[in-house]
Amino acid sequence: MARNTGADCRQCRREKCKLFLKGDRCYTEKCAFTKRGKIPGVHADSRKKTTEYGLQLREKQKTKRIYGLQEKQFHKYYEEAERQKGVTGANMLILLEQRLDNVVYRMGLGASRSQARQFVNHGLITVNGKRVTIPSFQVKVGDVISVKDNKREQPLFAELKQAKKPANLPQWLDFEPAELTGKVLAKPVREDIDMNIQEHMIVELYSK
Ligand code: SF4
Repeated sequence: MARNTGADCRQCRREKCKLFLKGDRCYTEKCAFTKRGKIPGVHADSRKKTTEYGLQLREKQKTKRIYGLQEKQFHKYYEEAERQKGVTGANMLILLEQRLDNVVYRMGLGASRSQARQFVNHGLITVNGKRVTIPSFQVKVGDVISVKDNKREQPLFAELKQAKKPANLPQWLDFEPAELTGKVLAKPVREDIDMNIQEHMIVELYSK
């Protein structure tokens, strides 16, 4: 499957905000957006005023990049959200949040969503004791997410086992670092998603 292999930091500069794509580095002074937060490209400063369509497009691109999805995958979430009862934009974000790779990231098992996705792809993660290798797997209330038993002693998890519970752990999730295990406590609601996303603009764009 085609993936966006462009430089992560360039994407943040393009979207004019921090997308937190590179794990710990994003929180340090090495962050490229903090150092030089302008749009990449030689003519970046001469770009014209953005239209309403342009703003909607940028909001969609930004959200896609945050979750690391291609257009086709992302649009499927919109279609599914539209079929559900309630507010389409919020439904869409909730579906995205319930992806297994996102949950692994939110629990602090992966430093970034892309690392969390690698863990899932490589078979390091179990859901209710069974290995799941599909990053888009939708978690549900009561699911227990763990690092596979025979992978727990890998150096990359050793440090995490000594760590405290992540301070930014969402209310709908629990995670015990010593056990390398977490649980889905509730279905997320829009207020749980603390990213600066104006999802109504994405819905407006796709509704045209
Ligand atoms: Fe974006 Fe900064 Fe992280 Fe690079 S280091 S991905 S610019 S937030």
